[in-house]
Amino acid sequence: MANKNFDECASFLIDNGLFVGRICRLENVLKTIINKHGYMKNVSAALSETTALAVLLANALKFEGLFTLQLQGNGPVSAIVVDVTSDGKMRACANYDKERLQKAFALRKNEGEIEATPHLLGEGTLAFTIDDSNNNYHQGVVELQGKTLEECALRYFKQSEQIDTVLKLFVSIPEEENGDWKAGGIMLQRIPELGGKNINTENIDELRNEAAMLLNTLTAEELFSEQLTLGEILHRLYHANGLNVTKDNRYEFQCRCSREKLLKTLRGFSEEDLAAMLDENSKITAQCGFCSETYEFTIPEIMQKLN
Ligand SMILES: [Zn+2]
Repeated sequence: MANKNFDECASFLIDNGLFVGRICRLENVLKTIINKHGYMKNVSAALSETTALAVLLANALKFEGLFTLQLQGNGPVSAIVVDVTSDGKMRACANYDKERLQKAFALRKNEGEIEATPHLLGEGTLAFTIDDSNNNYHQGVVELQGKTLEECALRYFKQSEQIDTVLKLFVSIPEEENGDWKAGGIMLQRIPELGGKNINTENIDELRNEAAMLLNTLTAEELFSEQLTLGEILHRLYHANGLNVTKDNRYEFQCRCSREKLLKTLRGFSEEDLAAMLDENSKITAQCGFCSETYEFTIPEIMQKLN
């Protein structure tokens, strides 16, 4: 059953606006994404974790349009892509080599252990792009280095933005086949220009350590509790720190693929290449990697508007 308290991200301020935070948890939107694909469990887990990170990052950046988080690597999972629009539409997909992944798991020391996302991807990059409504691109890239996805993301903030950031991500993997996946996270950043002008530096460090310590007390059980709203979870963590919940964004699945977009892509191929793609029914079948929708085309249809 759909839980109304999930699929959202709340923004908040504490300590007189000295720290800005985001907390998110996803369930129904994630279930839809995972059901579209039927990936191996470990890939779904990495995809879930990346989805939660994408929502936190998208909320940390002010933009109108599309935010894309992309992990790419030379490991058994070669890519994970998550799209989040500023009006709360999400989609996500992964690419992986099933055989390589199965081999890697056979070599694991602990049976049942879920490998950390960076380990599945190997050497590579974490990159995000923002495509705003005016088609302006902004990009950030960092090498995928760290034991966990949190560490990789923190490297970005440290290296590129020099923003003091604390981050924790959670994934709840269902035990049964059709159980509910949940993913979420909490992030806290110190934005110098946001305030705290009257606080001396010594205090800032102290407040920062306290806020980080409190963040780290959050458990998966609390975050994924159906009895608690995000506001209530934040109240538990930061009620003594002048908590101010400023925004609440909701998320749902929506793919942006269309016949027209695929036609545009197919029109980039030569007639010879297109002929090689024909199946026994003289059709070209293209499947959307994000929602698994299949589209069929004929060569005359593709060539039609080319002139
Ligand atoms: Zn699609």
